[in-house]
Amino acid sequence: MDQLTVETLDRPAGDDEVRALLPGLGPDRVLLGGGTFLFSVPQPHVRGMVDLTATRWPPLTVADDGLTVAATATLAELADLDPAAHPHWPALPLLAACCEALVGSRKIWHVATVGGNICLALPAGPMIALAAALDGVAVIWDPAGRERREPVADLVVGAQRTTLAPGELLRSVHLPAAALRGRTALRKASLSPLGRSAVLLAGRRDDDGGFTLAVTAALPRPAVLRRPGLPDADGLAADLDALAHTHGGWFDDPHGTPEWRHAMTRHLAEEIRTELR
Ligand SMILES: Cc1cc2nc3c(=O)[nH]c(=O)nc-3n(C[C@H](O)[C@H](O)[C@H](O)COP(=O)(O)OP(=O)(O)OC[C@H]3O[C@@H](n4cnc5c(N)ncnc54)[C@H](O)[C@@H]3O)c2cc1C
Repeated sequence: MDQLTVETLDRPAGDDEVRALLPGLGPDRVLLGGGTFLFSVPQPHVRGMVDLTATRWPPLTVADDGLTVAATATLAELADLDPAAHPHWPALPLLAACCEALVGSRKIWHVATVGGNICLALPAGPMIALAAALDGVAVIWDPAGRERREPVADLVVGAQRTTLAPGELLRSVHLPAAALRGRTALRKASLSPLGRSAVLLAGRRDDDGGFTLAVTAALPRPAVLRRPGLPDADGLAADLDALAHTHGGWFDDPHGTPEWRHAMTRHLAEEIRTELR
């Protein structure tokens, strides 16, 4: 949809130009990723946008220490990374699986960005699930020219709430090689086949037996369970039950009741535990 209140559109082409615009950001002047959210509902408070797509940041950078995903990488670019080209990273199929969890057409995938998905911070944000399961670390630029790092699982603190201060920009997400060497499994529950995720769980099993489970969509903010080995079924269920107290209660919105989300989280987590045995 057209946003008729928008009067300015900046399209910075280089890092210096981006940084120069950060101090001017606020509720009325916002960063623009793919715009699939910003142009989907009225934004009457927005007067200006800073479009990041002209930066041409390399979407995906493969290195010995892991995979760096630019905030401007589209879901399609992430999904197209060929796991067969990186056989030493068995976790890579999780990238496309998480993109599939965003039930938009390929048209949406070609525009929606990883950064936009994380910063929008919907409980159903599949890039949040991906980064939480793979120990993803956000690289953030602030308006004073500094850079800080924070686990993506900590960056999202509630439904549409993050730790980003006014003028801060998510530059990239680093997925460490150690996590990419794990085996992974994903489960999703929705009220309808093409519905938004009401429960989205991503699990990982490392070479040393370590078990990680990211619980998203069922809670207002991501939870990450880490255990040195595979928990037993009762232990895992008890750990999940406790999340309601530490992570703001089971989420309640038109995509699912708290009770159903709780039950499906238990059920799907057990499937992941069994798959990663
Ligand atoms: C059909 C359809 C289905 C959808 N399904 C889902 C779904 O299942 N789950 C889900 O989470 N979303 C869903 N969405 C919402 C949205 O499309 C996605 O979250 C998408 O990934 C947002 O990315 P974007 O690049 O388009 O963000 P934009 O709309 O460009 O921006 C979203 C927000 O992030 C901010 N932002 C963008 N980039 C940065 C950055 N680098 N640093 C700081 N802030 C930034 C913007 O200012 C804005 O507040 C859906 C949308 C549609 C149209």
